[in-house]
Amino acid sequence: MRLGALEAGGTKMVCAVGDETGKILEQISIPTVAPGKTIPQMIEYFRKVKIDALGIGCFGPIDPDRNSATYGYITSTPKLAWRDYNIVGAFKETLSCPVGFDTDVNSSVLGEVTFGQAKGKNCVVYVTIGTGVGAGVFIEGKLLHGMLHPEAGHVLIQKRSNDQYQGKCPYHRNCLEGLAAGPAIEERWGQKAAVLKEREEVWDLEGYYISQALSGYILTLSPEMIILGGGVMHQEQLFPIIRNYVKEILNGYIKTRELEHMEKYIVPASLKDNQGIMGCLELARRASADNCAFL
Ligand code: ADP
Ligand code: ZN
Repeated sequence: MRLGALEAGGTKMVCAVGDETGKILEQISIPTVAPGKTIPQMIEYFRKVKIDALGIGCFGPIDPDRNSATYGYITSTPKLAWRDYNIVGAFKETLSCPVGFDTDVNSSVLGEVTFGQAKGKNCVVYVTIGTGVGAGVFIEGKLLHGMLHPEAGHVLIQKRSNDQYQGKCPYHRNCLEGLAAGPAIEERWGQKAAVLKEREEVWDLEGYYISQALSGYILTLSPEMIILGGGVMHQEQLFPIIRNYVKEILNGYIKTRELEHMEKYIVPASLKDNQGIMGCLELARRASADNCAFL
């Protein structure tokens, strides 16, 4: 089967063709402008490469509820041109094939659970720390939606008393995204995160904030593994800092095999930054299988 994958991001759209083993045959990247310009370019691509089903992992918030009148829409995004946009509808109408749809982070966790290091696990959290912060949750064999979908990048964080930065999130200020996403690092320290590598205090604070959120996820969801991706996590020195602070925050309250082996519990993504697009292939495969079940 030829499966189409679309990782829809705020700056670029990655379109790929692959198969059900997660093999990517080819891929292109198209800048995200307004739907009127970007969508026809993607449709042309998917028509040319001929696909049997499409999986979309999309920036949010989105409506992933199949019973909702606005299923398949990008909803209250700050990217105004895409607000209340029916992205699933746009592809379904033109490509006439099954379309799977979920958040970008849910498709990343699906990629890791289906093809990567989290294969066989029952409950896994994937967190991206990039331009924004988001978390995807795979739980008891399913991607977690609930009333909407997790927006775990916006959990509140206790600031260090000497951190004068107020936070960048217009809704909450001191949520994880507001304090620790790439743009917050840049605004707090006056330089792009990537060039701050040698500044230990930057990564100690960053790790402290990330670990507060992860401790909350551990206590509420009880994941068997937490995978961290996104541009900021290219700073690999963050991993030991985060693991240590998580241990300190949990303070021995829960004892599990996983928490005894932190280096295997809080880990980098394993699919060379292809976890999102590979997850989209699996979303496409599942959409196709669901479609057949209804025939
Ligand atoms: P997006 O979240 O837009 O999909 P990324 O996951 O690449 O894209 O995240 C981009 C953010 O990550 C930017 O704020 C950027 O400053 C930061 N970033 C990118 N590369 C690095 C790096 N090597 N070290 C630290 N921060 C980085
Ligand atoms: Zn927020």
